[in-house]
Amino acid sequence: MDETAQQERLRNLPSVDKVLSDLKIASLLEKVPRQIVLNTIRDYLENLRSQIVGGSDKEFDIESLAKTIEQHKRLSLRRAINGIGVVLHTGLGRAPLSKTAQAALIEVSENFSNLAIDLENGRRAERYFHVENLLRDITGAESALVVNNNAAATMLILNTLAENREVVISRGQLVEIGGAFRMPDVMKRSNAIMKEVGTTNRTHLRDYAAAINEKTGLIIRVHMSNYRIIGFTKEVSLEDLVALGRKHNIPVVDDLGSGAFIDLSKFGLPKEPMVQESIGAGADIICFSGDKLIGGPQCGIIVGKKQYIDAMKKNPLTRALRCGKLTYTALEATLRLFLDEEKLLKGHALLRILLKPINQMEKEAKSLYKKSQVLFGDEVQMTIKDSLSEIGGGSLATESMPTKVLAIKPKKISVEALAKKMRLYDPPVFGRIENDEYLLDFRTIRSDEIATIANALKSSLS
Ligand SMILES: *Cc1c(COP(=O)(O)O)cnc(C)c1O
Repeated sequence: MDETAQQERLRNLPSVDKVLSDLKIASLLEKVPRQIVLNTIRDYLENLRSQIVGGSDKEFDIESLAKTIEQHKRLSLRRAINGIGVVLHTGLGRAPLSKTAQAALIEVSENFSNLAIDLENGRRAERYFHVENLLRDITGAESALVVNNNAAATMLILNTLAENREVVISRGQLVEIGGAFRMPDVMKRSNAIMKEVGTTNRTHLRDYAAAINEKTGLIIRVHMSNYRIIGFTKEVSLEDLVALGRKHNIPVVDDLGSGAFIDLSKFGLPKEPMVQESIGAGADIICFSGDKLIGGPQCGIIVGKKQYIDAMKKNPLTRALRCGKLTYTALEATLRLFLDEEKLLKGHALLRILLKPINQMEKEAKSLYKKSQVLFGDEVQMTIKDSLSEIGGGSLATESMPTKVLAIKPKKISVEALAKKMRLYDPPVFGRIENDEYLLDFRTIRSDEIATIANALKSSLS
């Protein structure tokens, strides 16, 4: 390109201020922070300038610049539609919160609160009191404590009760949960000394008994939440471990992972160990996640004997692992549901997903099928199928629940391309790919999301 023409084009590039005064760009300031708009314009102009210098005949294009800025309209963390059918999907934020918890969050977050004040005497109080009584009432435990997640709960327990002391654990229970949570590493970081007993498939009471000495700090049982050992196996019951612990005056800890408050088998679902059962068996300390089967916010709940919980409250680690007011308020509202079965079955968001009737899923699948038929006709092959959804989150790992899916086979693009387009839709829609079909699972899809999914399909397939 000739030199003067190039100079001319560079001179003709608009200034940042000029671009900002364009209505198309100015209107984006309502949704996109000013600094991001300015930076994006500057980057765009700089890039264009160097392209022109490099000989490109690219023109200034306000449309494409506006599109780039528009990508910043949404928050990075936003709602998504779960059509994968994994109910407690860690990538999708695990349990959805119940309505009462949402309402409590709004109330407490837009105002000041009595987070750590005793209203009776006006003095500072430890924030645990908001949920302590509820957890006592639900589980029958003497005392309770809440920290950031179950990983934090495990660390706090180990560090408080077994720092520089031995922790007896079966080789079959040295779990890895994912996200770098591995029991041997957690022990190390908690300054506890791991004392493995038994073998991968069989551990006997005598193995535990032989491992106990004056350095033993605690005995721990870890729920095999995301795997099973089958075949020639032997595990020691919690009752037997408790009896052994009592004999030697050593606390017994039960790490449940998910920890259910209600018996899911009552509803035809696979049974997950209940916190109340561990209390009944005499476990001294039990820990579990708040955002798995409890269906609350992310947190780790510790319940058990007062003397041990009190010791944990005094551990400086507790201050570092403590939760904020948003967690407490959402947790309290969620826990209250468990004290009224009728309200629980109606209002608990996670339970409603677990108990969703198959005919409702079928009805919703048909509704999306019909909406999509109108849009795509024969262009896309669609079938409603029986399939299986998973609970996930390490809960009921090997169990699945019957479900209905809409299976989609696009003719013009690959299923992977469809899945990607659906993810990039606003809001993102997640499905699962199985046998070269894109499946949308109606166990985890809500009926009010069907119209949005139809629009997402329309925009992804056209
Ligand atoms: C899920 C799980 C954890 C980790 O819980 P987070 O709340 O995610 O920290 C630890 N142990 C077991 C057995 C689990 O199932």
